Amino acid sequence: MSLSHTSISGLRSLLSKGEISARDIVDDLLLQTSQRDGEVGAFLSIDAERIRAAADQADLSLPLGGIPIAIKDNINALDEPCTCGSRFLSENYRSPYDAGVIRKLREAGAILFGRTNMDEFAMGSATENSALRVTNNPAALGHIPGGSSGGSAAAVAAHFVPAALGSDTGGSIRQPASHCGIVGLKPSYGRVSRYGLVAFASSLDQIGPMTHTVEDAALLLQHMAGHDPLDSTSLPVAVDDYLASLHHGVKGLRIGIPQEYFADGLDPAVRAASMAAVAKLEQLGASIVEISLPHTEYAVATYYIIAPAEASSNLSRFDGVRYGHRTSQPADIMSLYQQSREEGFGPEVKRRILLGTYVLSSGYYDAYYNKAQKVRTLIRRDFEQAFQQVDAIVSPIAPSPARKIGDCSNPLEDYLADVCTIPVNLAGLPAISVPLPTDGLPIGLQIITPHLQEALLLRVAQAVESA
Ligand code: GLN
Repeated sequence: MSLSHTSISGLRSLLSKGEISARDIVDDLLLQTSQRDGEVGAFLSIDAERIRAAADQADLSLPLGGIPIAIKDNINALDEPCTCGSRFLSENYRSPYDAGVIRKLREAGAILFGRTNMDEFAMGSATENSALRVTNNPAALGHIPGGSSGGSAAAVAAHFVPAALGSDTGGSIRQPASHCGIVGLKPSYGRVSRYGLVAFASSLDQIGPMTHTVEDAALLLQHMAGHDPLDSTSLPVAVDDYLASLHHGVKGLRIGIPQEYFADGLDPAVRAASMAAVAKLEQLGASIVEISLPHTEYAVATYYIIAPAEASSNLSRFDGVRYGHRTSQPADIMSLYQQSREEGFGPEVKRRILLGTYVLSSGYYDAYYNKAQKVRTLIRRDFEQAFQQVDAIVSPIAPSPARKIGDCSNPLEDYLADVCTIPVNLAGLPAISVPLPTDGLPIGLQIITPHLQEALLLRVAQAVESA
């Protein structure tokens, strides 16, 4: 098996036996990428010289020593580009510092391997909103990889890297993982530092691992999670040992099937693959319980008020003064702001800023933003009540497999397809997408557990993967 098809744990074992060097790994991956990324389009930039230098200095005694990891282009890493898939930041911005997770991964010995394509400022579900590049699904060229972490999912699925980081605000790790046939984990809100992640919707954003195997996701999360004093929302609680209970199986666990997530309109292949996985879990000794999450139908509307509201505030820092694009000949300070933003942002970002500004404006704040916050509480309570009956919940990730590139006529279609992933972010819970066996396009199963129960999440995911 070539190095590009080897998992993190496989690479670690070859490295520790001295059979390969970190330089062998990155040379192999750089070759793969230079030969095939022209048709996939996973990366926005790769600094081969820097990667080789990091490999030559890798400390193999560290837990992730010599392991290359691709980074979504909205996570700051010192002196590297961080375009967020936007023209606004693609001209001249370089990160002046390392994000919290980047610091942790460097401390664990990982090598940063290139910056991956994404929907502009992480707004989208197809990576088609990137202003910079088209990304194809490696499992089916011509199809979307999903989004917004589509470049990271494609980089892993194409075997350019064993793992990548994504960010998930409403499904952006899990949905592209599902569409590309890889594992993607969104941690509990507060489990992983958001410091240095370019903020989209701060009360929802989390960074998480995207890998080939559940074990690799556990390993990576182990070295990403933990308190960071530079992120006031990161929780000062100890990190569990995610590998210790990974193979404990699902015997005796109660698994909830929310009826609202299996509603009409679900693609037959998605329904069949998900139900087959549920039957497998039952065979393995779990008991299957039908549950209800009654406020699910309001989740999309709630998210598309709260997320744009936070985005409109977060993105006000892009004004042409301190960061990125600045219009060339502004007449005055107001036109400096207006023209820089007009030229720098793409249509979806502008749509969200307008929407967010509207729902926060006086006269509409109570009708929209405040109401959405109340519904958010109801959605969180749905899960709290469900978790009194069950240990974990399983559902589809997306109502259908990856569509063709260019096949979406109206943004609302993509918004509605976020229905299974968004409630999890609104409730701050951990969730994972695990690939299921299919004859056609990849399909992922979503597993959701209570807050901070990533160890249980990974254990159920491991059972699904092994089955
Ligand atoms: N598809 C959702 C959106 O467009 C989620 C994006 C994300 O998780 N970053 O907002």
